[in-house]
Amino acid sequence: MFLLRPSDDGLGWVRQRILDEGAALLPTGGDTVEIVAGRHPDAAAHVLPFVENDRESAALVVAASGHSMFVNGCPPLGLAVLDERAELVLNGARLYFTAREPLVVARYAGTPDGCALCGDPLEGALVIACTGCGAITHEGTLGDGRELLCFTHHGRCPRCRLTREDFVWTPPEDG
Ligand SMILES: [Zn+2]
Ligand SMILES: [Zn+2]
Repeated sequence: MFLLRPSDDGLGWVRQRILDEGAALLPTGGDTVEIVAGRHPDAAAHVLPFVENDRESAALVVAASGHSMFVNGCPPLGLAVLDERAELVLNGARLYFTAREPLVVARYAGTPDGCALCGDPLEGALVIACTGCGAITHEGTLGDGRELLCFTHHGRCPRCRLTREDFVWTPPEDG
């Protein structure tokens, strides 16, 4: 899972990974926050991942007293859940949350199974394992030298229907 914060040059977003130990959001004096792993005594808020159905899908955010925190525009909160694409505004600094890991193409190394789209064997093939639902789909050469780009041809995960772009989402330009 990640917090997205505006990049220092103001163009685009920095995707900062949140580890199992959580993260501390440190005030910088301006309209940004610094994100560091674990706990910190000076943190304005802490973000703690939680696991649902064996997957990290959301996080808890806890504000320290004396700091202003809004989640999805709700009036000042001390404690809130960050769901997919939640907006977090901490002392005026705007961040976004996403639990989705970018999709990667890798050689299949699991037990014998079939592609979630075409059903052909996965053994030895280049595949995409969906980081949202776990479905595995051909995406390159197979063990026998043929090539199947099932994910690309379908345009989305055949099970959860999320697209490649959904896994590398960034906030819209106008907020
Ligand atoms: Zn396939
Ligand atoms: Zn999926």
